[in-house]
Amino acid sequence: MGVFACGRYANAVTFLFLGTGTSHGVPMIGCDCAVCRSTDARDNRLRPSIYVECDNGQRILVDSTPDLRQHALRYDIRRVDAVVYTHAHADHVLGLDELRRLNHMTHQPVPLYGEARTLKQIKQTFAYAFDTDARAGGGVPDLTTQVIDASPFTIGDQEIVPVPVRHGTWTIFGFRFGSFAYLTDCNAIPETSLPLLRNLDVLVLDALRHRPHPTHFTVAQAIEAAKAVGARQTYLTHICHDLGHAETSAKLPDGVALAYDGLRVTL
Ligand SMILES: [Zn+2]
Ligand SMILES: [Zn+2]
Ligand SMILES: [Zn+2]
Repeated sequence: MGVFACGRYANAVTFLFLGTGTSHGVPMIGCDCAVCRSTDARDNRLRPSIYVECDNGQRILVDSTPDLRQHALRYDIRRVDAVVYTHAHADHVLGLDELRRLNHMTHQPVPLYGEARTLKQIKQTFAYAFDTDARAGGGVPDLTTQVIDASPFTIGDQEIVPVPVRHGTWTIFGFRFGSFAYLTDCNAIPETSLPLLRNLDVLVLDALRHRPHPTHFTVAQAIEAAKAVGARQTYLTHICHDLGHAETSAKLPDGVALAYDGLRVTL
């Protein structure tokens, strides 16, 4: 349970789902619905993030959610060699200060990779962390920034391909690592991005709920997009409390499944 493995080879990479919930998380504060009250662990969803574990020991975090401390405690994360940002919405960046503890353990600054706009927004939100006076006191995370564009880039040995996706009025990045692609937060995949998603073993796709939303795929839209991409397996993420894991999973087509916190995929 909880492990999807295929085509394992010497340089295997494991993708750990740290959180698969929408911006509110599930349970949502003050909600008594059946999913928020569920005792099924798969209905308990922290904010959306994945942790990429490369064979050579390198560890890459995608987004620093407000639950980063919980992610790290739950999954015993002791190392983050880089954070790669999809975009700067609050549910994807607000845990940035927790990187302080990772700095302490690795004795290294953490490089943040993102588009110029994303890094600008992060610097505005966390102005204190980039203030050279404050840094002298040691009470702030030690960070560097690396601007990326839509070109593939490399962190250590790992090539990462940005995949532009529509997220409301924004175009933001999903990321492809080998035959795994992580597209959180999207309501459309532009035609021009489809060639970047060929021959995938695993596609991870936003699927907020059944009701339409201006910036997120519904489950039905995600299933359509999954068909267009044609990955061997698609996992849905960024899930709100409308979707109970068991009842929703029972209705999904073959090759499409709900992700859940703690799911590990090794490729
Ligand atoms: Zn609820
Ligand atoms: Zn967003
Ligand atoms: Zn989000």
